[in-house]
Amino acid sequence: MNLLTRTDQDHVAILTLHHPPINSFSLPLRQALWQALQQIEQDPTIKGVVLTGQDLFSAGADIKEFSNLKAEIEPNLRTLIHRINHYPKWVAVAISGLCMGGAFELALGAHLRVAHEACKIALPEVKLGLLPGAGGTQRLPRLIGLEAALNFMIQGATFKAREWQALFDALVEDDGVAKAVELIRAQSAPPVALSPKPVRHPQAEAFLKFAENSVKSVAPRYPAPLKIIECLKIATTTALADGLAKEAVLFEQLMLSPESRALRHLFFAERAAGKVANDSPTLTAPHIDSVGIVGAGTMGSGIAIALLQAAIPVVLVDQTDDALARGRSAIERWLSDQLRKHKFTEARAQQVRGLLTLSTDWNALQQVDLAIEAVFEDLAIKQSVFEKLDAILKPSALLASNTSTLDINALAAKTRRPQQVLGLHFFSPAHVMKLLEVVKTNDTAPEVLKAALALAKRIHKIAVIAGVCDGFIGNRMVIPYLRMAEQLVEEGATPAQVDSALEAFGMVMGPFKVADLAGLDIGYAIRRRLRHAHPQLPKSFSEALVESKRLGQKVGLGWYRYDGAKRKPLVDEAVLTQLATWRQQRRITPRTFTAAEIVERCIFALINEGAKLLGDGIAERASDIDLVYIYGYGFPPFRGGPLYYAQSLGSIEVLSTLTRLAHTVDPLYTPAPLWQQWSITQAPLQ
Ligand code: NAD
Repeated sequence: MNLLTRTDQDHVAILTLHHPPINSFSLPLRQALWQALQQIEQDPTIKGVVLTGQDLFSAGADIKEFSNLKAEIEPNLRTLIHRINHYPKWVAVAISGLCMGGAFELALGAHLRVAHEACKIALPEVKLGLLPGAGGTQRLPRLIGLEAALNFMIQGATFKAREWQALFDALVEDDGVAKAVELIRAQSAPPVALSPKPVRHPQAEAFLKFAENSVKSVAPRYPAPLKIIECLKIATTTALADGLAKEAVLFEQLMLSPESRALRHLFFAERAAGKVANDSPTLTAPHIDSVGIVGAGTMGSGIAIALLQAAIPVVLVDQTDDALARGRSAIERWLSDQLRKHKFTEARAQQVRGLLTLSTDWNALQQVDLAIEAVFEDLAIKQSVFEKLDAILKPSALLASNTSTLDINALAAKTRRPQQVLGLHFFSPAHVMKLLEVVKTNDTAPEVLKAALALAKRIHKIAVIAGVCDGFIGNRMVIPYLRMAEQLVEEGATPAQVDSALEAFGMVMGPFKVADLAGLDIGYAIRRRLRHAHPQLPKSFSEALVESKRLGQKVGLGWYRYDGAKRKPLVDEAVLTQLATWRQQRRITPRTFTAAEIVERCIFALINEGAKLLGDGIAERASDIDLVYIYGYGFPPFRGGPLYYAQSLGSIEVLSTLTRLAHTVDPLYTPAPLWQQWSITQAPLQ
């Protein structure tokens, strides 16, 4: 039963959406609602209808139906809302909890709207590369005006109902259904549908042109915001029925666009990533109410902030008072930023300070539910920290490492609780970056992974489970990518050419700007470690840069030069001269590269390593790898992530390009077995 129906003593029918967990308007619910409206229309004793939701109103359309076109089967949302708007009896919505997307569009079609004042409302379609296609772009400006409608839709932001009072006939703090019934009872005339007239605005054309130009400069690769503006233009020049028909056409175009397909892929990828394989209700995860952090450096203090933001108590431990003072001042800097930007009140800042304990005494960690180690990247140091923590922590506590590269199995082996040990690989700055790699060792228990995923959700991270290997998912893939970027430079491209080609592809930042930001000494240390295992590994140009004291942005010199406090990378002739000499010494005749060649070499290195690590079982799903690159490495969301992008190119292109590059550039392009399998089965990578 997805719709509960009753009629109250005032002869008003109450229809309650009951389609857990989010009351999405899938076909069966639409059919049930349609039927109920049909019956009520024929019942002369009923004066009107209140539509409400069990617990929450509704999160909107069922997005799964977009891919199989079920969303279009009648009664589709457009038809249903039209029916409601033209219904001969009064229809009121009483919304609480959440009212988003298609559900919000339905509310716009009702004659009366009552909302709980704190209820969340949004038209988030733009985030999926779509527009509100069930009349939202035409009805909203008719209700609140052109400019307000644009602001409401263009970023898909979530608002509280109380921020948009003009949209509602009543805002309540308690029973919205009672208020809706009262409003229906007070009506003496039959309901009137929304005015079909075009929206009036004194400077509609200029206003929309300005909006269009702003969108083109901010998000040029995303078609949805421009189509929303086009719909608003239609609303100012066309009658409602015509506008609705045109909106449907534009919606359809977006639905079929590669950008929206990619964004919808990421939507489902996020939902899949939050789950442990073979999860079941009997798998009970330990609850994490307090966290200890060892190491108050860059990462330790960032992780502390991420937890404090979610009101989770933190005990921060380091070796010396000086080290703790550095951690405290990083947290205080963040707090003052929050106060300055009016994100926090002084009371909230005080509350946060109250959640933080700093100590050089490890006994302060005795009662924490989870301890995260964030000390120097050195196996012996980390092993001794793990041994010490194992002795101090309560038996049920979980123990995590924030290592970027070290073997967490070797850390777990130092404890008597290997099944409670895992990796929590945060990215820097830890309180800003959305990605969290949750690393499972040979022994990590599924309950422990489940607890980590639940914690990640509380601190608003996108968590992805990874297996133990050098670099886990993200850093393992980035190494061949960076290596191939560097090889391009060694062969004749300039760092700026490589960066701008990849930025034009959509990467947030080119590889050399990223390397400068992270510090070239990090790559240097990795390369030295690799050379230990492979002594024949030739010296790279970036090693020469480090040896000439160019460590990146922190010293003002790296692949680029940086002036003073400004972080803008400037082309440095000294690097180009050093490069020319370096090539001469190795008898390399420099050649030029097109942007397409640059992108091909770098992105195919990434794609191939991704398929290799998926085949090795380091990632659980292809879509997890996509999330890692979108949220941790600036891969463009409109391309859906590296493995989604590769599959969108088709198997012939992927295989032939990799084979060609393996022969002409580097054996690392030798197609991963998964790509070969895919070219035969054509089954999407799972
Ligand atoms: P950092 O040098 O800024 O901080 C390390 C802190 O650990 C220092 O405050 C130090 O005093 C403390 N420490 C060292 N030995 C200790 C011990 N035995 N007991 C207690 N405290 C000790 O380093 P960081 O950049 O924060 O990196 C920490 C860890 O996070 C490393 O494993 C690193 O690989 C990983 N990591 C770093 C980044 C990054 O971008 N910085 C990103 C992801 C992961």
